[in-house]
Amino acid sequence: MSDRILSRINHEGGIPASPHTPVPGQCWTFASWHNSAGCPYVHWEGRDQPAHRVVYILTRGEDITGLDLDHLCRNPACVNPDHHEAVTHAENQRRIAKHQTACRRAGHDWTDPNNVRTRPNGKRYCAECDRQSCRARHARRRAEKKETHRANG
Ligand SMILES: [Zn+2]
Ligand SMILES: [Zn+2]
Repeated sequence: MSDRILSRINHEGGIPASPHTPVPGQCWTFASWHNSAGCPYVHWEGRDQPAHRVVYILTRGEDITGLDLDHLCRNPACVNPDHHEAVTHAENQRRIAKHQTACRRAGHDWTDPNNVRTRPNGKRYCAECDRQSCRARHARRRAEKKETHRANG
């Protein structure tokens, strides 16, 4: 059963181009259907599951129920267990946020620390978007004032 799955691995999937953590060896690709994000899926234990989870469980023999696998190599197609780390969902979200390099709304460059602010709860938000919405609010208020002046004059 597990052989059927493991035989679909290609161990020469190439060296990851921009890993967020250095990883050993090449990426492994997997012969199956891939979802829209390029992540391969495999039918296992009665349901379709991400192949990298199944390969991780089969090769490591670890129970990762309730844990996320962080793609250390940044390659969604990769199923190499050495390129994955089992972490809590909260930790994974924290890491994704940490590696975010641009704001989601307008793509402002977050590699410039001047563009990022941190709320007391640790969440980051875009300083540039904040500045812009501030300016827009002021401009609106000024415009409204002019309107009332004109109406009175
Ligand atoms: Zn990889
Ligand atoms: Zn922004």
